[in-house]
Amino acid sequence: MEAEEFGGPALVLGSVRGRRSFGATTEGHLTGVFHNQVWEPGENRAQCRHDGGVVEQRPDGRIVVRTSSVREISTTHGLAGCTCGFYAYYRQDPYTKPGRLSGIVEGYGRVVLGTAGFRCEKARILGLLLPGPAGLGLATIDVIRVRETYPDVPFFSREEDMLAGCPPTPDGPRL
Ligand SMILES: [Zn+2]
Repeated sequence: MEAEEFGGPALVLGSVRGRRSFGATTEGHLTGVFHNQVWEPGENRAQCRHDGGVVEQRPDGRIVVRTSSVREISTTHGLAGCTCGFYAYYRQDPYTKPGRLSGIVEGYGRVVLGTAGFRCEKARILGLLLPGPAGLGLATIDVIRVRETYPDVPFFSREEDMLAGCPPTPDGPRL
């Protein structure tokens, strides 16, 4: 990940929409792919886990944080200069893979716009794409339980239908 892909000034916008992938718990809650913060139906507030932690960039580009505590994102800690917030992409989501849930989220509150996507303080799930069959050795997501957890979120079986139903903000909003 290049710095400018999710860098830039922190702004307060109306809202911006992007694509992202999710992990899932066995109870049917969605989580981040790399962070285990659970996504609630409705509004979610990102937590910063970088307080006291050590931010590392792995050789594959992943940003990971070791030995951190959780703090709120607020007036005393914004998104600029950190790597926290919910991430989403305008175009291709590089973390989609067979057997993984992906979808469209709306980001608002404090938002940092980059060239690949945005980081945001608050987000809600607008639509989800049903995962294709998981590959050999991969856990299959319990889609029935996920649907029960997010009863107001539309689920799509075709990506093009999801993109038509809740289109991402194209190439980022113009300022
Ligand atoms: Zn932070």
